[in-house]
Amino acid sequence: MSAGDIFDAEELGTCISCGFCLPSCPTYKLTGDEASSPRGRIALMRAIDHGEVDVFDVAAREQGSFCLGCRACEPVCPAGVPYGNLIEDLRNAQWKGRRRPLRIRPLLSFADRGRLIRLAGRLRRHARFSPPSASPATAPEGSDEILMLGCFERSLFPAVSRAAAATLPGIEVPQDQGCCGALHAHNGDVERGEELARRLADRPGRIVSTAGGCAAHIAAVAGRDRVVDYSEALLDRGSLPGPILIDGRPARIGLQDSCHLRNGMGVSAEPRKVISALGAYVEVPGAGDCCGAAGTYALLRRKDSRRVVAPKIAALAVLDLDFLVVVNPGCQRQMIGVLRRARLRARVVHLAELVALAAAEAEAP
Ligand code: SF4
Ligand code: SF4
Repeated sequence: MSAGDIFDAEELGTCISCGFCLPSCPTYKLTGDEASSPRGRIALMRAIDHGEVDVFDVAAREQGSFCLGCRACEPVCPAGVPYGNLIEDLRNAQWKGRRRPLRIRPLLSFADRGRLIRLAGRLRRHARFSPPSASPATAPEGSDEILMLGCFERSLFPAVSRAAAATLPGIEVPQDQGCCGALHAHNGDVERGEELARRLADRPGRIVSTAGGCAAHIAAVAGRDRVVDYSEALLDRGSLPGPILIDGRPARIGLQDSCHLRNGMGVSAEPRKVISALGAYVEVPGAGDCCGAAGTYALLRRKDSRRVVAPKIAALAVLDLDFLVVVNPGCQRQMIGVLRRARLRARVVHLAELVALAAAEAEAP
C-alpha cells in the first residue's frame, strides 16, 4: 500500500481545521498538545498522504496508538469529518502483520475462530433460546429480530445475553454466529472486519446488539437500519418493569455511556429513559466521556487508560450509587476493575441485567 492509498481522499479533505473538536478529545485534555488532538492527527494523516511523513515514523505510530478511537470528536465537528474511519485506516496501515501489537494478536486470533467463540459461549452458558417469561414487555407485532451474542461478551459476560433474551421475548438467538469484526476493524484489519460484519448482516432480521462498539461497526458496514441497540429494541416494545427498591427506596442508578453507541450510533437518551423507569436516575458527570477501555486500549496502554478514567472515579465517589449501568462489554470490564480498585460499592451491571433484575422483582410474590 503506498502512502497515497491509505486514506479516502474525500474523507481526509473534509476537515476545515476549525478546532471545535479539541475540547472533546480525551487525549488532548490529558496533554494539551495539538499533536494529540483530532485536528493534529488529521494534519499528520495529511502529511502521510502527501508522502511528507512516513506512516511508520515513531511519532506517527505513537499518535495512531495514543488515540482512543472514541469518536468524541465526530458529533461536535461542523464539517462532519468521519474521524472513526480515518483512524481505522491509519491503524490498518500501521498495524499490519508483524507490526501488529503482540498483546492483541491472541484476541484477534480468538475472534477469528467462530468455532472457538461458539464453544466458549456454550461453556459459559450464553443465551440459547428466548424464554417465554420473566419479561417486562411483549414482542412487537411482526418483529423479526436476532440477538447478537458478541465474541468476548459470550466469554466474559454471558449473563448479558441471557438477560437480553429474557427481556426481549420472541427474539431469535442464532447459535452459529461468529464475531462481528469490530475488533478487527479497530485493530488494523479493516478488510476482515468488514467481511465478518457482512456475514452477520446477511442474516434476515434486525440485529439487536448489547455492545455499543459492535453495533456501530455493523451500522457502518451494513447500514444503520440493520442494527439497533438493546435499549432501542426494549423501548420499541413499549413497556418497562417498575422500579428496583432498596430498603424501600428506588435504587440510585447511574450510566456510563459507550463511546461508539453515543458518538457512532447517536444512542444516549434511550438507555437513560430505560434506567429512569427502573429507579432514581443519577447523571454521572462526564458519563459521555470515554472510560478508557476503548476496545484493546486498556490492554495496550494501561497507564493512559487509567489517566483517562481518573476523573470519573472522583465523580462516582460522591454519588454513592447502587448501580452503575454500562452498555458495552469493554466498559463493563473496565468499570468493574475501576470501582473495585477505588473500593466503591456501586454494582456494575449491563442495562439488560438491570432490566432482568427489575422484571424478576416485579414478578416476585
Ligand atoms: S475534525 Fe472537524 S471539528 Fe476538528 S478541526 Fe477538523 S473540521 Fe474542525
Ligand atoms: S477518537 Fe477520541 S481520542 Fe481519538 S482524536 Fe477523536 S476524540 Fe480524540
